Amino acid sequence: MVTNKKDIRALSKQQLRDFFIKQGDKSFRGNQVYEWLWQKAAHSFEDMTNISKETRQMLEDHFVINHIEVDSMQRSSDGTIKNAVRLHDGLIVESVLIPTPTRTTACVSSQVGCSLDCKFCATARLKRMRNLNPDEIYDQVIAIDNESRHYYNRPLSNIVFMGMGEPLMNYNNVIKAIDKITSPEGLGMSPRRITLSTSGIPKMIKKMADDGVKFNLAVSLHAATDQVRTSIMPFNDTFPLQDLRESLEYWYAKTKRKISYEYVIWKGINDSEADIQAFVKFCKYVPCKVNIIEYNPIGDVHFQQASPKILERYLTVLEQNNIVVNVRRSRGKDIDAACGQLANKS
Ligand code: SAH
Repeated sequence: MVTNKKDIRALSKQQLRDFFIKQGDKSFRGNQVYEWLWQKAAHSFEDMTNISKETRQMLEDHFVINHIEVDSMQRSSDGTIKNAVRLHDGLIVESVLIPTPTRTTACVSSQVGCSLDCKFCATARLKRMRNLNPDEIYDQVIAIDNESRHYYNRPLSNIVFMGMGEPLMNYNNVIKAIDKITSPEGLGMSPRRITLSTSGIPKMIKKMADDGVKFNLAVSLHAATDQVRTSIMPFNDTFPLQDLRESLEYWYAKTKRKISYEYVIWKGINDSEADIQAFVKFCKYVPCKVNIIEYNPIGDVHFQQASPKILERYLTVLEQNNIVVNVRRSRGKDIDAACGQLANKS
């Protein structure tokens, strides 16, 4: 339904307090409503049981609560859950719950589609339709937290911005959402349990460092020479590795926090000894750890997982150089919930 009422969650706490004063009510009412909207994640004014009926009606007359709806949920044989999430304007994004024995991680989207054009990623084919609002990001986290409690009897423990979209192309809204997620007035989650993954937008990495953010940074590197990286991530032409490197050095100087590099190894693309040596060299610029991600095919014959022998070689050389490396097995592949597979198939 199209309405020109304002989305109440676009208001800050102070704006909400001011609104109530203007209505001849107490500013304190603003605090109560704010708590309902964020901490209690209410999706309707009806739910706000400690607010009088008249006030709820008054709110109804002025505002809407645009909220997401989990349109469909799929559960993988490995326990991974994928939500197709319907936004108030009918667009769909996906978010994923990944349980392990020690963690439950939410993988959330930041854009509908994506601004970038990574050749190996299914989301890139959707193009960017719009940015998500802070509340749309927050709601994905709430939905997954609820599912985690329901299916696995534990709250969500970690969040990664590795769903659809490039979070640094929607920086302000992502930061506002993280503020709500980490605030005691929201979910109260530690920023140390949140990781923002970016394809690497140097200017924005520097901005994050300047802003003093407390969450972790992951960079989808995949190649450490401009020639190879540009061939698979064409925007690298605009933001070459030298600029990326400088921004990461800047990040580390300011935050003193290690960076994670995400890396997929493909046959004939980045599987030569020169590729390995270039990667190791890049890893030495700034303290880091490496996550080698299993490739999740998206139906393009140019991209095929490199052989186990090449993976071994990468691991050996990285370890010889004292670089911490993890190999990440894919999760939720059978329901297209794995990295790079989010594309609203259903
Ligand atoms: N735009 C952000 C976050 C979304 S992608 C970024 O690029 O970091 C999340 C991760 O999945 C990235 O590391 C991305 O490079 C990786 N990825 C994309 N397509 C993939 C695929 N088909 N198989 C494995 N990983 C993929």
